[in-house]
Amino acid sequence: MGMLVWRVIEACPTGRAFCVLGVTFHDGGTENAEKSWGGMMGSMWERLLGWYEGHKRELPWRGTRDADAIGWSEIMMKQTRVAAVLGYYARFMERFPAVEDLARASEAEVLAAWSGLGYYRRARMMHRAAKVVVKDEGKFPESAAGLRELPGIGAYTAAAIASIAFGEAVGVVDGNVERVFARVTGRVLSRRECQKLADEWVARDRPGDWNQAVMELGATVCTPRVPRCMECPLVERCATRGEHAVEPQAERRKAEVDHLLRRSGQKVLLRQRARELSLMAGMWELPVLAHGEGEAVLRVRHSITNTDYVVRVFAAGEERRGGVRRWVAVEELGALPLTGLTRKILRRMGVLAVTN
Ligand code: SF4
Repeated sequence: MGMLVWRVIEACPTGRAFCVLGVTFHDGGTENAEKSWGGMMGSMWERLLGWYEGHKRELPWRGTRDADAIGWSEIMMKQTRVAAVLGYYARFMERFPAVEDLARASEAEVLAAWSGLGYYRRARMMHRAAKVVVKDEGKFPESAAGLRELPGIGAYTAAAIASIAFGEAVGVVDGNVERVFARVTGRVLSRRECQKLADEWVARDRPGDWNQAVMELGATVCTPRVPRCMECPLVERCATRGEHAVEPQAERRKAEVDHLLRRSGQKVLLRQRARELSLMAGMWELPVLAHGEGEAVLRVRHSITNTDYVVRVFAAGEERRGGVRRWVAVEELGALPLTGLTRKILRRMGVLAVTN
């Protein structure tokens, strides 16, 4: 805390507020404002860590210090809800229990195991990172700076692995942390300011637990729409108690798309997306139709990034050109890198088992 200088705000007649790095905090009126900064932060750490011990969700990657198990879970959870990741994580770890298994696998095998989670670039980068780690005797770098040298490992993932697996006192910043900090401080903070606070506030003796505690608080109590402030361990330190202005969400786009489901015996017609595409490059999907014929055999809704699609599936129609087409045996489908939408359609139509 040496770099942090706090002072009681002179303008505050009650003396129940303090300021650090230009950020004002309110002391809830229950304790003496003359106490030291270390005391303030000490009690904040204790409350948050105590709350975390009693309320954290039991997740398969918690309680381990394996860098690969932690790393893969953090990469999977970026921009994805924990509930959506659980099944994928279990299958992924069963299929690639050690970093060497992941490095040895083909890209198609990795994408097939990832299929349905979206953001496929992450899977490709994870695969490349595993190869680099294996070249370096199978050992992950033990600092956030070293981890950032690996392909696809950004500030968030590097800090998460370094603090949880190796105990480095570095702060993690994701959307949950940004929201908690913004509400606690009552300020709109840039990503840089958030990172600075995270690095200053991280509990030096339990950085991994601290980072997970802040993220857990944001995911389960300090939620985007209706924060449950009365259950929050930081309520007495919080400047806003939920009354925090938020940026309006970017409007989601709506679109329609038609696909062809054509079967021949135990085979299904698929098409491979071009490798130069920015989305789902090289993955396999049902052919896209310019016009469907007859009645749709299935209608589903599907969201990709900021677009909500209404998807219709036809048994016949005029296909759009492009991509490599191939008849694929049903028993091979599970091992193929299918797009999430294709997997969803094939499951709904009973072509693919739900476990695939
Ligand atoms: S008191 Fe409410 S707004 Fe403040 S951090 Fe806790 S849950 Fe979030």
